Amino acid sequence: MPEFAPALKIVIGGVVAAVFVALFIVETSFSLRQAKKSKAKRFFINVGVSGLALATGAYIVAPAAIGLSARSSENSFSLLHVVRLPFAAEFVLGFLLMDLTFYYWHRANHSFPLLWRFHNVHHVDPDLDVSTSFRFHFGEVLYSLGFRALQVYLLGISVLTYLVYELVFQCATLFHHSNVRLPIKLERGINKIIVTPRMHGIHHSIVKDETNSNYSVIFGWWDLLHGTIRLNVRQSDIVIGVPAYMAPDDNRFLNLLILPFRKQRQYWSLTDGKQAQRGLNLNDKKNFLLP
Ligand SMILES: [Zn+2]
Repeated sequence: MPEFAPALKIVIGGVVAAVFVALFIVETSFSLRQAKKSKAKRFFINVGVSGLALATGAYIVAPAAIGLSARSSENSFSLLHVVRLPFAAEFVLGFLLMDLTFYYWHRANHSFPLLWRFHNVHHVDPDLDVSTSFRFHFGEVLYSLGFRALQVYLLGISVLTYLVYELVFQCATLFHHSNVRLPIKLERGINKIIVTPRMHGIHHSIVKDETNSNYSVIFGWWDLLHGTIRLNVRQSDIVIGVPAYMAPDDNRFLNLLILPFRKQRQYWSLTDGKQAQRGLNLNDKKNFLLP
């Protein structure tokens, strides 16, 4: 492992913690969506679930990925070693490929029932704010190791590219999960490049087609390229959550941990058996970010 890696890992931890605190303060004063549940109760549940996820990531996934990344320089068939490029070009291409392949991974988590059992835990949160950012079942983080290993090894990602990507990835995750109300014009501008809170808010809607859209993490272009972008939904019209898991008991700490191992409900059915639908009047401004 390169000598700079341990120091860079500490810097990443510090920056991510600072960004979390800053977004938490701003979203409390300038909220985008109105919360359904008490922020304090959710906060402790999310801290518990996130703590297990972060520990799994920090002690199992990251060391394995960094180890494989350091070894991928010996791997003659990895993409970035077959295509020999100057350092800067290799860094930029590696960074973009990490983000594109993560888009596919997120999409796979929604498409394959076994993966969705775990990813559902993230979506069951009845509100969306910065505390949701790392609220993943630790099982999801653990099996993502298989994806990370393939990603880093087959692409031939250097340790530096991996760690810088990880820093930007974590900060982007905090930003687009946050409940920060940005001026709409500013957000439309930023959204031409990166995923923003309004765009990701649609990904957490109880409407199935909306949850199955906007999978990108850093750059929103991947959704645009694959036709999975959905912007034309007003935030005030969004109900956050998964329809079949809206009861207060569904969002308790222990219930969330055992949720993937229990018999699954009809995810998209509301209590009356119907699916949440979006009124047609909202579809007229096709794919234009609404307030
Ligand atoms: Zn998702």
